Order: sequence, then structure tokens, then C-alpha cells
Amino acid sequence: MKVTYDAETCVHAGNCLYSLPEVFKVVDGQFVIDPTGASETEIRRIVADCPTGALTIQDADPSE
Ligand code: SF4
Repeated sequence: MKVTYDAETCVHAGNCLYSLPEVFKVVDGQFVIDPTGASETEIRRIVADCPTGALTIQDADPSE
């Protein structure tokens, strides 16, 4: 599972950063997503809660 982030869409409400700081973080001013920091279920919940839809999940291609 890969999580992508659209900086143009994000309103920096910070929901994801506060809700799951192990996964969604700001490092050296850059927004970083570490999908290993929480369970897939938790990450999917935060992505679904993003108020702008800036976060999207791309499931791995089964052929990979
Ligand atoms: S929850 Fe969505 S809109 Fe809010 S900071 Fe995270 S990516 Fe941006």
C-alpha cells in the first residue's frame, strides 16, 4: 500500500499529523508519509478522514 499526498489540495488542517504522527510527519519542512508507522486499517481511516482528499491510497499492483 502506498499513500500519496497532494500539496496543492492540502489545507494543512493537520488532522493527519495529529491523528497519526507516526505515519504523517513534517521532516525538515517536508511532509513525509511513513506507511510502516501504523496498521493499514489505521492509515486508511486517517486518509478517509482527510477533509480535502489530499491523501490517496494506491494499493499495490498484485502483479508486482
Ligand atoms: S488531513 Fe489532509 S488536509 Fe489535513 S493536513 Fe493532512 S493531508 Fe492536509
